[in-house]
Amino acid sequence: MSTDRSSGRPAADVLADLASWRAGDPPTHGGRILSYVYDPGRADLDDVAADAVRMYMPVNGLDPTTFASVAELESRIVAFARDVLHGDEQTVGSVTSGGTESCMLAVKSARDLWRATHDPTDRPTLVLPTTAHPAFHKAAHYLDLDVVAVPVDPRTGAPSAADVLARVDERTALVVVSAPSYPFGVIDPVAEVAAAAGVPVHVDACIGGWVLPWWGGIDQPWDLAVPGVTSVSADLHKFGYAPKGASVVLYRTRAQHRAQYFATTAWPGYPVVNPTMLGSRGVGSMAAAWAVLQVLGTDGLRDLVGETRQATDALAVAVSQIAGLRVVGNPTGPLVAIATDDAADPADQVDPFLLIDAVRRRGFLLQAQPAMTQGDGSVLPRTAHVTVTPVTRRVVGELVAALTAAAAEVRGLPAAAPDPSLASTVLSDGLPDDLAVVMATLEALPPEVVQPLLVEVLAATVDPARTAPSGR
Ligand SMILES: *Cc1c(COP(=O)(O)O)cnc(C)c1O
Repeated sequence: MSTDRSSGRPAADVLADLASWRAGDPPTHGGRILSYVYDPGRADLDDVAADAVRMYMPVNGLDPTTFASVAELESRIVAFARDVLHGDEQTVGSVTSGGTESCMLAVKSARDLWRATHDPTDRPTLVLPTTAHPAFHKAAHYLDLDVVAVPVDPRTGAPSAADVLARVDERTALVVVSAPSYPFGVIDPVAEVAAAAGVPVHVDACIGGWVLPWWGGIDQPWDLAVPGVTSVSADLHKFGYAPKGASVVLYRTRAQHRAQYFATTAWPGYPVVNPTMLGSRGVGSMAAAWAVLQVLGTDGLRDLVGETRQATDALAVAVSQIAGLRVVGNPTGPLVAIATDDAADPADQVDPFLLIDAVRRRGFLLQAQPAMTQGDGSVLPRTAHVTVTPVTRRVVGELVAALTAAAAEVRGLPAAAPDPSLASTVLSDGLPDDLAVVMATLEALPPEVVQPLLVEVLAATVDPARTAPSGR
């Protein structure tokens, strides 16, 4: 429209704009945000990652035969992951842009191998517990598979292996289990499922892959050490402390890895070989991931996991001592889901959504997880999700104090309830600060109403119409 973008601006001014926008974000360091960000609490790791990103900024990972350094990096990261996750000489894989891409590629590989041995006009299925990450629903959506969702036990948050296995049949291209699952932080019965599935089994260790190996006290193997596990995903941009944009997917066999690729010569340009979803590929996060792993070594990773575990244990004990709250199940790893203690007297109960708003006013961001009715009619509770990171240890006392005070503030109040008029006010005014009613409304509305509404609210946030008329 009338915005004048013709003259360039001094870099310092431009950077000042970026800095002012960033200043409006919640702090990504220091343990205030208990999801999304993974802070090792080590400035030296941030520095080496930033230097690596800068060095690799201009490189295109599209062609590792031109940029041989990309192949060097990628093969080294895959080898590191393979050793950590108990693969062998047959184990190969790729570095991807993130967990979603790793999961989607594992599904793509499994789907293509399934098609090779089945009537390709049949539709394959993906069998997964309800707690599996939505990346698999996205994979099914993009890649045309049907999802078969298996209910988990609402008390433990885990599926029974028998229930998962009961849904496996001729159409099953892949079974997915998690180590651990994001919503409740529990490790699914990997070994029992993999022993009897008779079809490929993916372990989604996107969040656990770089932390469970050093957690301690895990008596059941959950990675490629388990016979029958055919692929694993593990995000470097979570507990590998890399900047966003790095994950690994590993396959038991080279044939599975090859089935992940796309190649074509059906155009007059260069011969195309894409291992992942992307064409041109940024390599900065990959370089940073490798650099951070090298600086840490497995000893350094173990130390950071130790700090994370101390903070997690302290948090879980504290939550279980706050009247009206409970930790869901018996999580293994750095994720904790906080639910209402429904055994408590109603006057003592604490609603997680009200808790989240009250904790936010005290400087910590927890993540709201709505209740969900499963296929068998059982209901998974509304919870507050916490991802603990190494830096949490430094603030865990403050966090527990905030939780305790917030719980006291909202204890006995009626749980946040849906507001049918909210959909229209959110569309016109955007999201309010207090999200309890928003989340309760999302929880209550049927998916066919909620899903387009979520799309609209989020799409509106990036609509050019919201930029100030003078903005450029
Ligand atoms: C984070 C996560 C994913 C997806 O990863 P993104 O990096 O967010 O794309 C998949 N599975 C689990 C269990 C996760 O925690």
